[in-house]
Amino acid sequence: MALLILAAVSGTGKSTLARALLDRHPNLRLSVSHTTRSPRPGERPGVHYHFTDRASFEAEVKAGRFVEWAEYAGNLYGTAHSTIEAARLAGVDLLFDVEVQGAGNLKRAYPEACACFILPPSWRVLEDRLRGRGTESPESLARRLATGRQELAVADRFDYLVVNDVLDAAVDDLTAVYQAARLRTVTGLAHLQSLRAEAGAG
Ligand code: ADP
Ligand code: 5GP
Repeated sequence: MALLILAAVSGTGKSTLARALLDRHPNLRLSVSHTTRSPRPGERPGVHYHFTDRASFEAEVKAGRFVEWAEYAGNLYGTAHSTIEAARLAGVDLLFDVEVQGAGNLKRAYPEACACFILPPSWRVLEDRLRGRGTESPESLARRLATGRQELAVADRFDYLVVNDVLDAAVDDLTAVYQAARLRTVTGLAHLQSLRAEAGAG
């Protein structure tokens, strides 16, 4: 199972890119996270997120149900162990749309995953995109930009950096990263195992 982790400063276009990438690659599925955030217009439970309340989320944390979780702009977000296990059983690859701390924790749990940080063409364009999306209050916008400045400071720890200027070009670059993730696990490791068996190398 190939694991592709995407992180970006809010407003860069990560969700847009993730959607395009998922459309292009049927065997790649979104890891649907749990969150205490309210649904935005058009967001469906179980498709975009598993929406929950803070008390239930905290109970799940206590029960050890999350591989990773983080607080972001006043809401809790987390990846359940069961999501990854279900994907493994189904034989599909997983795309994780997470913030920076979650990306680091997933990479620690699954070192074979490919972690990619998506960059906007400029800070000005990022602000325009986030404002243009029209989903954030002035407070949430300021909070997301402040968090973004901190996220940029650690973006060079990621395996890959992709710039989202022209959308199609960025989807091509992400397809290359997905292919790298597959070579690391699905294609590469499967072949190595059969070769070892054939060679009697254990
Ligand atoms: P994120 O998930 O990173 O917060 P979104 O995917 O919601 O960001 O994108 C933020 C806004 O920028 C949306 O209105 C989206 O349509 C727009 N957008 C995304 N990628 C591009 C791009 N390459 N060029 C122009 N606008 C873009
Ligand atoms: P949004 O509210 O814009 O959907 O998401 C806010 C941030 O939380 C984004 O950076 C998104 O990638 C991140 N996020 C979504 N799901 C998870 C998750 O399961 N874990 C972590 N750590 N971050 C997540």
